[in-house]
Amino acid sequence: ALRAWQRPLRAQFPIITAHPGLAYLDSAATSQKPQAVLDAVLSYLTTSNANAGRGTYPWANATTALVEAARDRVKSFLRDPRPERSAVHFTSGTTEGLRAVARDWLTTFLTDGDEIVVPFADHRANLAPWLEARDLLARRGIGVRVRALPCQEGSGDYDPAALAAQLTPRTRFIAATHVHHVYGADMNVHRLREVAGPAVPICLDAAQSVGHLPVSTDRLDVDFVVFSGHKALALPGTGAVWARGLRGPRFRPGGWQGTPNTAGIAGLAAALDWLDAAGTDRIERWTVALAARLTDGLGRLDAYEVLGCRESLSAASRVQRRRSIVTFRHRAISSTDLGFILYSHGFMVRSDHHCQAGAPAGGEDGSVRVSLHVHNTPEEIDALVSTLTSLQ
Ligand code: PMP
Repeated sequence: ALRAWQRPLRAQFPIITAHPGLAYLDSAATSQKPQAVLDAVLSYLTTSNANAGRGTYPWANATTALVEAARDRVKSFLRDPRPERSAVHFTSGTTEGLRAVARDWLTTFLTDGDEIVVPFADHRANLAPWLEARDLLARRGIGVRVRALPCQEGSGDYDPAALAAQLTPRTRFIAATHVHHVYGADMNVHRLREVAGPAVPICLDAAQSVGHLPVSTDRLDVDFVVFSGHKALALPGTGAVWARGLRGPRFRPGGWQGTPNTAGIAGLAAALDWLDAAGTDRIERWTVALAARLTDGLGRLDAYEVLGCRESLSAASRVQRRRSIVTFRHRAISSTDLGFILYSHGFMVRSDHHCQAGAPAGGEDGSVRVSLHVHNTPEEIDALVSTLTSLQ
């Protein structure tokens, strides 16, 4: 049944249908775009392109309305139960979004002796801004302690007990990642709130979950959701921060004075429409099944080591833990070489250290990452597994 649902969706990606000999397996780096997104951008640029927020004529007013409607669209996409109290800030991606939360909110909120808990082994974009905020405050004479939110050995997700051990009465903020960009693990973030208690703001790096699975701010009970539009089927240079009506100071992003990426925002709203119509729950089921097909195939090949979610490779729980990312190493071939070899067979994968903070998984040689989206197929996975088998 899912196959009949997926086939027409795949057909809506022009770059995919134009290249039948190639398999795009790098959606975690950036996604391909369905025709509806390209149409929305072109339609905006050919009917009402103008600057936002300063209009005395119809195109400018239409642009302002488009940006405001896109904010509402982000809220509804994230199942925001109280949209009248939350804010949406458009960015160029997750890196800029997390930086905005650090600079324009966290530094106004912390006082001397406060503590924050942040991930040390996730994407660097979710570590550097918090350390910079600490250093900025230190120069103002405000001492803030940064504690690590640890990943579990083996599975790569967060251990709620390890988080509990990091919390103190001075904990004022927790940064976390929804789905790990190397391990592919669902990080257990729905458990963070019960551990953290009701008062500590939680900021979620949702770069690898928005567009891949239902992301409900209501269910997750977090205060910030930061994501990249370009990883969620929208254009390069797009992203957003959703901020809940906070108990602390309001999030006042300083980046809004300039001209926003209005065409990109038009595309982002169209991408969210497309994703909701396709069904993020079905996208999740489809891509998780493909990822399991790949880990099963790799599990039969001695030459490869799969990173993260190791203990669950043969367990039923695997399907709940691993999302649409599978990262692995060949025991004899370097990850860069393997990337080149795989492209010679038509597979586009990422091979390096994936911007992971701390000691990168896979060691010096890095690893090869396969990341999936709705256009990928079981045939692509089977072809990849047979190529990997021939390289044993
Ligand atoms: N966080 C995570 C988990 C990511 O996977 C990425 C992209 N690889 C980023 C942050 C950075 O996103 P962007 O390049 O859109 O700033």
